[in-house]
Amino acid sequence: MSIPTQTADQADLCRSLAELLGADRVLTDEATLASRGHDFWLLDFQKRVHGTTGPKPLCVVQPRSQEEVVKVLTFAGSHNLAVVPYGAGSGVCGGARARDGSLVLDLSLMNKIVAVNDTALTVTVQPGMLGGEFEQTLNSLGYSMGHFPQSMNLSSVGGWVATRASGQFSTKYGSIENMLVALKAVLADGTVVETRDVPRRSVGPSVNEILLGSEGTLAVVTEITYKIHPLPEKQDGNSYRFADFGAGLEAVRKIMRAGWKPALLRLYDGSESRRHFGGMAGGGCILLLLSEGPAALVEAEQKACAEIIEAEGGVSRGAGPLEHWLKTRFQIPDLEDLARNKGVVFDTIEVAANWDRVYGLYKDVVAALASVPGIANASAHSSHSYEQGTCLYFTFAVKKPRWLVRLIARTLTLGAYDGFTKPEDADEVVRLYNQCWQRVMEATLANGGTISHHHGVGQVRMPWLERELGSSYQVLKLVKRSLDRDGVLNPGTLFPDEEGE
Ligand SMILES: Cc1cc2nc3c(=O)[nH]c(=O)nc-3n(C[C@H](O)[C@H](O)[C@H](O)COP(=O)(O)OP(=O)(O)OC[C@H]3O[C@@H](n4cnc5c(N)ncnc54)[C@H](O)[C@@H]3O)c2cc1C
Repeated sequence: MSIPTQTADQADLCRSLAELLGADRVLTDEATLASRGHDFWLLDFQKRVHGTTGPKPLCVVQPRSQEEVVKVLTFAGSHNLAVVPYGAGSGVCGGARARDGSLVLDLSLMNKIVAVNDTALTVTVQPGMLGGEFEQTLNSLGYSMGHFPQSMNLSSVGGWVATRASGQFSTKYGSIENMLVALKAVLADGTVVETRDVPRRSVGPSVNEILLGSEGTLAVVTEITYKIHPLPEKQDGNSYRFADFGAGLEAVRKIMRAGWKPALLRLYDGSESRRHFGGMAGGGCILLLLSEGPAALVEAEQKACAEIIEAEGGVSRGAGPLEHWLKTRFQIPDLEDLARNKGVVFDTIEVAANWDRVYGLYKDVVAALASVPGIANASAHSSHSYEQGTCLYFTFAVKKPRWLVRLIARTLTLGAYDGFTKPEDADEVVRLYNQCWQRVMEATLANGGTISHHHGVGQVRMPWLERELGSSYQVLKLVKRSLDRDGVLNPGTLFPDEEGE
């Protein structure tokens, strides 16, 4: 990717920023601009594979303190520069995608644990620390936060707040909104806001809640206080097989209804069970169950959940599938190979719905994807559950629908498959990707579901946001207007870019 030479005005802006922060904290080299100009949005990734260049930010600035974040935002406001906060770039919706000429505020140097309070069971941390290092440090001190996104080692603790993240053990520990105690943040005009470290409060609407999921559009989060837990005394679990996904969902619903809160209660449909567990799935749908906490609670929970599962037709498959999942749970598939060599168009989309709608939603989404030309996979698992409903995490994959070539290749067992691998395929990749998203979003809304359970909006969900939020979107727009009148923070994410791009 080549970034054009800066104009004299742009070079002046970068020089002024370097005077403000130090030259080593204002980066304009091609490699940094290219790597910090985007997040993990798979449409962007697949476009890059097909030769499309990404956005061209003005520069990447790396503050080391809250005071420096204030300086950068004040500077940006007075020079009419858009600012895109950047945690670790693992967002999958295009939320941390730079605009041409914008300033990328990379928080990776603000990466220290500030304090651990053993009596109150809290930890205070700067936003740029990576999740894996954070959890490991807590473990070495005898604690865990209980937040385990698959992107643990790729995401920052501040990005978790900004995206309303949810981890693999959320059924027991809750999602990030249940873990956040207090925060510090800097508004677009440089004002510092701070919320206090108390177990609960009844003093008006919560500023924590306003900033949770704000995706860098309302403030830059500069410090966070999270709840922590002593390491669990015991962990135990099992795996079960259901003949069909609907029966498995019923078991999950009944476990939640009975008031149990296993750390992991994860149900894969037939296609995903085959893909993840092969023969261990026994041709059915795999449910993983894991409890942790005080030994007596773990034993009681395992026994009670097993009874509910067996009453719904689930049959034990032993610890094998669960152990396999625990070993591989932070691994990421080779996306480069899928896109570049195999030429597959793919993404994952997580939505949620109440129990009375969830199975209908699942069937409608899979059916809607099934008629996309070249569809090779449309599958889901239920990953985070509640008394009211569950999250369905869909995966789609589309191959080039050249039936004759595929048929001949398969017949001759050449293994040759002409996927979307050439630059001229770029438009078709985008068209098919958007078609899949369109179908999943429409079927979700038609079934009364929410368009995102934990990945957020970014740019990919913008077309459906108005319908998702209805009249409450107006309230959010008013909040945006009053906190960031000039639209400095992350334009085009969550709120329409007034200037357009
Ligand atoms: C393989 C893979 C697996 C994933 N698994 C999960 C999962 O299990 N659960 C889950 O919830 N998500 C998951 N994600 C998505 C992603 O990891 C989360 O959204 C994560 O919270 C993003 O954190 P980040 O630091 O990388 O943020 P970025 O990608 O850097 O930014 C995301 C958004 O937050 C804003 N932002 C970042 N930091 C700040 C800050 N300090 N202040 C203000 N705004 C900020 C950005 O402007 C952007 O809009 C996964 C992603 C990948 C690639």
